[in-house]
Amino acid sequence: WSKKDFSWTKKLEANNKKVFGNHSFRPNQREVINATMSGNDVFVLMPTGGGKSLTYQLPALICPGVTLVISPLVSLIQDQIMHLLQANIPAAYLSSNMEWTKQQDILRDLCSGHCSYKLLYVTPEKVAKSDALLRQLENLYARELLDRIVIDEAHCVSQWGHDFRPDYQSLGILKQKFPNIPLLALTATATASVKEDVVQALGLVDCIIFRQSFNRPNLRFSVIPKTKKCMEDIDTFIKDNHFDECGIIYCLSRNDCEKVAKKLQEFGHKAAFYHASMDPDERASVQKMWSKDEVNIICATVAFGMGINKPDVRFVIHHSLPKSIEGYHQECGRAGRDGQHSSCILYYSYSDYIRVKHMLSHGSIEQSSFASRSTTLNSGRVLETNTENLLRMVSYCENEVDCRRFLQLVHFGEKFDPLSCKKTCDNCSKTHTLVDKDVTQIAKHLVELVKSVRQEFSGTYVLEVYRGSMNQIVKKNQHDTLKLHGAGKNVAKGDASRVLRHLVIEEILLEDIKKSDLYGSVSSILKVNEKKACNLLEGQKTIMLRFPSVVRVSKSTTTT
Ligand code: ADP
Repeated sequence: WSKKDFSWTKKLEANNKKVFGNHSFRPNQREVINATMSGNDVFVLMPTGGGKSLTYQLPALICPGVTLVISPLVSLIQDQIMHLLQANIPAAYLSSNMEWTKQQDILRDLCSGHCSYKLLYVTPEKVAKSDALLRQLENLYARELLDRIVIDEAHCVSQWGHDFRPDYQSLGILKQKFPNIPLLALTATATASVKEDVVQALGLVDCIIFRQSFNRPNLRFSVIPKTKKCMEDIDTFIKDNHFDECGIIYCLSRNDCEKVAKKLQEFGHKAAFYHASMDPDERASVQKMWSKDEVNIICATVAFGMGINKPDVRFVIHHSLPKSIEGYHQECGRAGRDGQHSSCILYYSYSDYIRVKHMLSHGSIEQSSFASRSTTLNSGRVLETNTENLLRMVSYCENEVDCRRFLQLVHFGEKFDPLSCKKTCDNCSKTHTLVDKDVTQIAKHLVELVKSVRQEFSGTYVLEVYRGSMNQIVKKNQHDTLKLHGAGKNVAKGDASRVLRHLVIEEILLEDIKKSDLYGSVSSILKVNEKKACNLLEGQKTIMLRFPSVVRVSKSTTTT
């Protein structure tokens, strides 16, 4: 598809320069355009900032009819239309909250002999709910004036993705109604299962897939244990490495955004906060200050993301655990779009995992701008997917050994040789050697202990009993009399808790998360997943973990 002798090639190159002001094409742009202009269904995976819009805007310009674009957010659509109109490309959009007469004008124009628009943007719910729109599309189709259908942010179709939107599922109707029209699905994030889901739900036929490496060589990734001094650490990190430069700090809750911004201001940084419950004027004003460099650090929930075209974001810090690897990758992707070195730091604590899990199951977590509100509900499969995605994130953070790039890219089904990381992640930069240790016995003891305390206590408590604590609660519960009380007295606390967390990641132990007190703090009660635990308890499963070569696991406890 990279050939340069298609009948449209000259026009394509001329318009790319003249209308869009680009001197060349970016990787895969020409190929995608050639494939879609040849009439194929095409699926494009291209990282944020890769230049997906051009792959349908340029064809729209040189084809005779109208390109229909389905995009998830009105504000995103408005932003695109503004840019198109500035380049003198006639474009319009239809949305349900637009005045009816205006919608009528646009629909009438579409069915007139000389349709004046090259691109028509609509939200997915408009396709699902507007018969008038479908009638006009049929009319265009009959007159051979429907050139192409574009589904932007196509991963929203899939329940396995992190931004599922039920309205996207009804888009399958487009291929049924307009079977001969090439469909172009675009996304910056999709695992193999999400891709399969999208191809099936949209009914893509013999589709050609373009995928680009999701590796971002200019970003440096690290995970840092989150302690009480986290804010001081962030302050020092910014002052030492990115003083007066631009950055985003992603926080879990609205309250966290405000607190973190305030603390940074006290430390002398130009920081502001951004979240979904601010009124639109306030949000617009923060975005404006940020784009004019009047503030350079934004403390935000994931709602801050759309329309961040700032090329010089030098750092993205996650103040708490992101809810999926896909989301994390996309959020980090906002750093270093100009190709310059930038830092991505994640502050991780297991208690944040408990918090996020609780928020997910109560629908109280703020979603990225694309996800619909209904995905926040505690509904079966969505909740299950969310929990699975979150556990993968925990496993990423707990991994102190493997290359971070490798771990992220493997998630997107991409092969990556860790040697190519060239020490640009924390794990690859470590100097100590690592040794595999058999921790099966520790794991067995912990599972047995969870049973001995009748599956009514938290992980922290189980660890205390394991390590032989004689504190008042342990004594009151008479758990100091248990056979396994103190069985792990020679095991370092950090190592025992790592094994415990591994058991949760492997779903051998399950966490039942509860709000524990009047102040709303959450805690988790450990249960045993009998189905998965039996192999371990019966001696058919071995558990190996990697430790730095200064091994803290004592010999007597590591033998099976
Ligand atoms: P995506 O949708 O993949 O995140 P966009 O389509 O918004 O990316 O493009 C990101 C930026 O790259 C835009 O500012 C766009 O003008 C610019 N861009 C796209 N294609 C090219 C190109 N061939 N040459 C130079 N700049 C480009």
